[in-house]
Amino acid sequence: MTTVHVPGVPVIADGELISTNPATGDEAGRLPVASADDVARAVERARTASAWWIGLGDAGRRERLLRFRAVLANRITELAEVVNAEGGKPVAEAVVEIVSAIEHLDWATRNARRVLGPRQLRSRLILAEFAAHLEYQPYGVIGVIGPWNYPVLTPLGSIGYALAAGNTVVFKPSEYTPVAGQWYVDAFAEVVPEHPVLQAVHGLGDVGAALCRAGVDKVAFTGSTATARKVMAACAETLTPVLLESGGKDAMIVDTDADLDAAAEAAVWGGMTNAGQTCIGIERIYAVAPVYDAFVAKVVERAGRLTVGAAGDADLGPITMPAQIDIIRRHIDDALARGGRAVLGGPDAVQPPYVRPTILVDVPEDSAAVREETFGPTLTIKKVRDANEALTLANALPYGLGGSVFGQRRAIPIARRLRSGMAAINSTITFVGMSTLPFGGVGDSGFGRIHGDDGLREFARSKAITRRRGPSVLPAMTFDRTPAQIARIVKLVKTLYGRS
Ligand code: NDP
Repeated sequence: MTTVHVPGVPVIADGELISTNPATGDEAGRLPVASADDVARAVERARTASAWWIGLGDAGRRERLLRFRAVLANRITELAEVVNAEGGKPVAEAVVEIVSAIEHLDWATRNARRVLGPRQLRSRLILAEFAAHLEYQPYGVIGVIGPWNYPVLTPLGSIGYALAAGNTVVFKPSEYTPVAGQWYVDAFAEVVPEHPVLQAVHGLGDVGAALCRAGVDKVAFTGSTATARKVMAACAETLTPVLLESGGKDAMIVDTDADLDAAAEAAVWGGMTNAGQTCIGIERIYAVAPVYDAFVAKVVERAGRLTVGAAGDADLGPITMPAQIDIIRRHIDDALARGGRAVLGGPDAVQPPYVRPTILVDVPEDSAAVREETFGPTLTIKKVRDANEALTLANALPYGLGGSVFGQRRAIPIARRLRSGMAAINSTITFVGMSTLPFGGVGDSGFGRIHGDDGLREFARSKAITRRRGPSVLPAMTFDRTPAQIARIVKLVKTLYGRS
């Protein structure tokens, strides 16, 4: 193994992207860097492969995708170890991530025909002489741009649904996790060796930018809100449609009738899984006054028992992206400078490449730790009067990805009122593993949906077809209509729609 100077910081040398472990600096692998021309050629190859992939039909694609799913399932430990070696994520966390990815791949494959297949819809009295047909056709080539924090689940959430919908894919993994991305692209090529239906292109952000401009039919982006804006601007040049899954600052609300032990356990897992580097991780908690003190004590006790380290079986691994450590430190320092208190951890918890669990209370709502994505194992907990105040504060940010509610009687109405694309009641994050449910955010957290029926439709264009099945009794859409027919149409419309 070669050791490089700054663990975790990707290096480009001799045309190769060298990926290293953030804790040890050990090389995880190296991959060729793509030029803009290479990206364009990959998209051309994908376009040629597209005709073949579409031609396989639902049954042919289903058979290949289920074999791909089987490879992922049978080699799950190997892939989890790649994810651990590259990003530092504990192996157990990587396994949980890959299980979710496999579940989604299975579901998308088995449901593509039901959701996207051709169907006849009922005609209405107006135009009753026409039949209405609807089907969903693949876009062609999808460009998928992925982040590093869930290098399997997140990109495959787009890739699996795009492939099942009949598209081919060119995928740009994060520069921090190219090896994991290439691993499953290679695994896919083992079961689909005939054509490059799924390809990866590697490099820094400019390779993602090149992919947006390479003539793909749609871009599915997952990453930060700042980069999402750039992706959308680049795609606007060619009116290329985009799906944007971007950042979040998810809140959890703890109501008076919550099971506090369960709430504390879920808060710690939701806030600190993957060392807090989770787009739908809990970052802010609003607990109502009667339960606040007991809840904070339980959270501190549970978080205080978490283990941190490079070993694959620690609860928390390193911070994958070294630059993120400065952001986490700034948020903690700012919170404390502005009157907040650390009831666990604090500035000393930042020990690069690790950050130990940190629980902050009394933090002003306009501080960075409450308003910006921290992406570390930190939680702010605020005492609120009641659920209404909790909702007002939870909904006050431009982000709106997920959220969580702990309680009984009012939990569903509170979850409905959270300004977010998803919510979990008496759990955190669970909606991401539920393949029947759509996944995506509102506001600065992006738009469009992966997962579920909506996730399949996201990668297909609706095609509407009308077919004449008889003569028109009252022809309207023709210059051959007569004034008497128009008069009868007016009468009919008044009869049908004139009364409320
Ligand atoms: P970034 O926005 O930094 O990068 C995301 C991807 O975009 C990377 O592959 C990156 O390449 C690429 N990229 C960078 N610049 C451009 C550009 N100008 N045009 C096109 N592509 C570009 O995000 P991170 O990788 O740091 O991921 C963390 C973020 O992702 C967090 O904000 C997190 O909340 C969010 N996220 C959202 C999820 C969701 O489902 N909503 C799920 C997971 C994460 P490179 O790495 O080479 O710079």
